[in-house]
Amino acid sequence: MKKMALHWKILLGMFLGILVGLLASGFGAKELVIDWIKPFGTIFINLLKLIAIPLIIASLIKGVSDLKDISKLSRMGGRTILIYLTTTIVAVLLGLLLGNLIKPGTSINEQTRQELLDGYSTDASGKIEMAMAQKDQGPLQPLVDLVPGNIFSAMSDNTNMLQVIFFVIFFGIGLILIDPKKAKPVTDFIDGLNEVILKMIDMIMLGAPYGVFALLAALIVESPSWDLFKALLWYSVTVLLGLIILILVFYPLLAKTFAGYKYTKFFEGIAPAQLVAFSTSSSAATLPVTMERVHEHMGVDEEVSSFVLPIGATVNMDGTSLYQGVAAVFIAQAFGIDLSLGAQLSIVLTATLASIGSAAVPSAGMIMLVIVLGAVGVPEAGLALIFAVDRPLDMVRTITNVTGDATVSIIVAKSLGLLGKPHVRELDDYYEKESVAT
Ligand code: ASP
Repeated sequence: MKKMALHWKILLGMFLGILVGLLASGFGAKELVIDWIKPFGTIFINLLKLIAIPLIIASLIKGVSDLKDISKLSRMGGRTILIYLTTTIVAVLLGLLLGNLIKPGTSINEQTRQELLDGYSTDASGKIEMAMAQKDQGPLQPLVDLVPGNIFSAMSDNTNMLQVIFFVIFFGIGLILIDPKKAKPVTDFIDGLNEVILKMIDMIMLGAPYGVFALLAALIVESPSWDLFKALLWYSVTVLLGLIILILVFYPLLAKTFAGYKYTKFFEGIAPAQLVAFSTSSSAATLPVTMERVHEHMGVDEEVSSFVLPIGATVNMDGTSLYQGVAAVFIAQAFGIDLSLGAQLSIVLTATLASIGSAAVPSAGMIMLVIVLGAVGVPEAGLALIFAVDRPLDMVRTITNVTGDATVSIIVAKSLGLLGKPHVRELDDYYEKESVAT
C-alpha cells in the first residue's frame, strides 16, 4: 500500500472531524466531543506554541550568524519589509475593490441588521474595549514595545514574539562581530539545538492529522446557527473571493514570476502549513510548520526562512488587511454611509497599519478592525454585524497570511541567491515519500 502524503492525511483528518462534529450535533452528543475530542486539539495547538519561541531563538541565531556579514542582513531586512508592505497594500486594495463592486452591505435588510446588532452587541463591545486600550497609546509605543526590558519575561509569552526576534537578531549580530574562535562554541551549540527543535517539529507533525481532526470536530459542535451564515452570505462570499484570489492566483503568480516556482510545486510545499493554519486560525501557532515546510520542502535557505517567517507571522497579514477593507465597506454600506475616495484611501492606510498591529492569534484582525472603522467614522458597534461569521473567515485569512509569508520568503531567498533544492529530513521520509509498505 502506498503511504499517503502528509497534506492528504491532514485533509482526511479535517473531513472526518467535520463529519464527527456534524453527527455529534445531530445526535445531541456535543458534550462528548467537547470533553473527549477537543482536548486533543488543544494539546496539538499547545505543542505548536510550545516549540515556537525555542524555534525562533535557535533558527534565527543560526540564520543571522550564518550570514556572517551585517550588510547582508540589512539588505535582507530592507527587501523583506518592502515586499511585505507592498503585498499588504495590494490586499487591502483588492478588498476595497471587491467590496465596492459586489456591495455586500446592500443585501442586508433592516430587520436582519437589527437582529445582528442586538444579538452580538456584547461580544462586539468586548473587542471594542480591547482595541481602545491599544489606540490610547502614544504614536511611538509600537517602537518602544519592540525592545524588551527583560528577555525572560518576553519569552514567557508567545504574543511578545517581536521582542524575542529583536533580542535574537541583536544577539546574532554580536555573534558575528566577535572573534570567530570565541563564537564557535556558541554557534556549535545553537546548530545542535536547532537540529533537535526541527526534529521535535517533525514529530509534532506526525500528530497533525489527529490534531486537526479534534479541532474541527470541536469547531463544528460549537459553531452558531447556520441561519446567520445565510444572512451574511454576500459579505462572506466577498471576503472569501478576495482571499481565494490571493491564495490561488496572486501568491503563486509572484512565486512564479520572481522565483520561477511551479504552481503545483508551490502548493505541494506549503499545503500542510495551510491546513494547519485553517484548523488553528493562528499564524503564530502555525509558524513552526511554515518554517519547516519552507526550509525543508520549498528550498528556502534557513538564513532567509528563519528571518523572514517569524517577522512575517507577526507583521505581514494580507488576509487580515483584505478582510478589514471588505468589512469596513460592508459595515458602512449596511449603515447607509457613503465612503468618499478620501475615506477609502484612509482605509488603505489604517488597514495596513492595523494588520501589522494584529496579533497572530484567532480573531485578532477583528479587534484591530475597530481602529479602521473609527478612522473613517463608521460606527464601531457595526462589529456586531460580522461577528457570527468571523471564525470561518478567520480560518481562511490565516491561510492567506501564512501563504503570503512563505511567498515573500521564496522571493527574498531567490533575490539573494539562497533558493536551492528542498532537503527533506529523515523523519519526513516516514510519512512523505511514497514507499511500499511491507
Ligand atoms: N487569525 C489571524 C492570524 O493569526 C489574524 C486575524 O485575526 O486576522 O493570522
